Parts: sequence; C-alpha cells; structure tokens
Amino acid sequence: MSMCVPYAVGIDVGGTKLAAALVARDGAITARTFQLTPTGIDAAGLLRLLGDLVAQVTGDVAPAAIAGIGLALPAFIDYPAQRVMHCVNLPLDAAGGCDVAAELARATGLTVTIDNDANAAAIGEGTWGAARDVRDFIMVTLGTGVGGGLVLDGKPYRGWRGLGAELGHIVVNCDDDTPCPCGGVGHLEAYVARPALTRAARLAATGPQGGALMRACGGDASGLDAEMLLDVADGGDPAATAVLSRAGSVLGTALSGLVNLLNPQMIVIGGGLGMRADSLFAAADAQLRACAPPALGDLQLVRAQLGNDAGLLGAAALAFQRTDGAESAADTAAGTVNAHTNTNTDTNTNTNTNTNRTDA
Ligand SMILES: [Zn+2]
Repeated sequence: MSMCVPYAVGIDVGGTKLAAALVARDGAITARTFQLTPTGIDAAGLLRLLGDLVAQVTGDVAPAAIAGIGLALPAFIDYPAQRVMHCVNLPLDAAGGCDVAAELARATGLTVTIDNDANAAAIGEGTWGAARDVRDFIMVTLGTGVGGGLVLDGKPYRGWRGLGAELGHIVVNCDDDTPCPCGGVGHLEAYVARPALTRAARLAATGPQGGALMRACGGDASGLDAEMLLDVADGGDPAATAVLSRAGSVLGTALSGLVNLLNPQMIVIGGGLGMRADSLFAAADAQLRACAPPALGDLQLVRAQLGNDAGLLGAAALAFQRTDGAESAADTAAGTVNAHTNTNTDTNTNTNTNTNRTDA
C-alpha cells in the first residue's frame, strides 16, 4: 500500500547551502527551494529553517501523500540509531543534545531518515542516475572533501554502525605526513579534495612552468584556488593539467584497491570537483586500469548524472525506500532488527515489519 504514496521530500544540508525538494516516484522534482546556510546558526535555528523548507516544498500536498523526509547531512552518522556522530560544519551532533531526525519528525509530522551526504548521492545515482539498474557500484564525490558511498547487491552498504564507505579516509601513502582534515595522515582526501588541489596549484604556480597559473591569480600564488586551477587546466596548460593528473593517479590507486576487493560493475564520480576536472578523471581511469587485474577490465568508470541534485534526490529515494520497507527488510537480514523504530513518528512503525524485498 505504501508503494502508492506519490511523493517524498529530499533535503541536502550543506555547509554553504540548504536545498529541499518535493520528489515524485519517477525522480521528477515537483517543487524545490534553497537557502544559504547562515553562519554560526544553532541547532534550534537550523531545525526551524529545515521545517520552513519542508513547508515551502510540500505546500498544499496532504501529509498522507508524502512518504517521508530524507535528510542528507555532511556528517558521520550512526545509521541504525539515526544519530549524528560528528557533523563537520553544523551544530547537529547527537552528543551536543541535538536529535535532528526526531526533532524534524516532531516539527513536520513526517517520518525522517538521515544519512551521510555521499551515501545519499550514491542512492540517488543508483535510483535515477548513472547507476540505474546497477547492483554493485561505488560512488565517489569530490569537492571540499572526498565522500564515498557503496551499493552492494542492490543495497547501500554502510558497515556495522553506518560509519563505513568513508573513501576519503583510505590511507594512500604511509610515508607521507600530509594531514587530512579528519586528523589522520596520508589519507586520500589530503591529495584530491579542493584544499589539496589548491595547495598543489600554488606550489606549481611558483615552478618553472607555472606562468599560466600565476597569471590566473594576478601574480599572487596565495590567491590561487581550485576553481582557477580547473579553468587554467581547461585551457590546456601543462602545469595545471599535471596537478590534476597527479591527484587523479592517487584516486585511481585507491579505487583499484576497492575494485580488487569488491568487483563493482561501475564507479560513479560526482561532486562539484569530480564533475569538472577532466584530466583528474582521465588519470584516475588510466591508473585504475593499470592497477586492477585485466579480468576487471569491463569495469565502467563514469561521471554522475544528477549533478548537484544527487544528494537531494538520493535523500528522497531513501525516504521512499524507508516507507516501502525495503530498507528495514535489508536491516533485518543484517541482524539489526528494530534499528529504525527509535526515532520517528508513529506513521512509520508499521512499515518496519514489511518484507517486500525486490531482490529475493
Ligand atoms: Zn582523513
């Protein structure tokens, strides 16, 4: 019966922007809104804003026609418990007293499901984007950080406590002390995210071939950023291209390990940086094929199709899945029975016993 509920709300919470949409079953966005994330906002203020965004996109649509709200957060999330373990830019940590899923559910009267933003992007691409009908794939989002999502055997794989698939924090260099924002060293994110590219571009600008990079920043290398690097690389500059290619090689090396382990059919590269950096993508592809065994040569490395809407749409897809019971069936199979019953409104409790798996 719940399969007939026609709409879900997807919300993508970013450090700079809050975006919300009312999404139909076929992935069509029927209403959308966004606003900039106020700096220094507290949890109560943020929850109020999220409630406002929900009201804006749902308008006159009856609550019974809405499967629920999916919330994509830039955070480490204990998915079975629906708790935010650590949110980088926003005051949503459960330890700080905020229970974002329960509080938004109370405020809106709708079921709320939270997930990591890269997981949501993977679910979005798998439902309506580049990985439609692909049962085993890896999603990589490149931007300010490096996010990852795994879909294995048709289901999001989050690990024991939902903290897995953190591709950005795979160690790619044991002999290097390049710091990662997480506190670790030698992690993938420290080589291929925007801050890393900015650092490498500034260094390259002062080198013998750095003329074009130096011109792009008006002669002051400290003003160079990743966007300028991409612009200069688009013009074919060898020094800028080399910076992106080096980062791509590191990414390809990291991905080859995952390919050897998981044998995915597809790897989807998304995120604002991933969608743009052509020489990074090409180098990652070449390195991946050089490092992975030839038997894995039919692997597809592709660009994401949903662009900036991947997280938003994935969050809505998550809300649909949750209500349809596919997720709870999967969780039951994984031994985390009742994991979903703790945080949400009563409208959801009956769906947790639903076992309409489509993959049996
Ligand atoms: Zn890290």
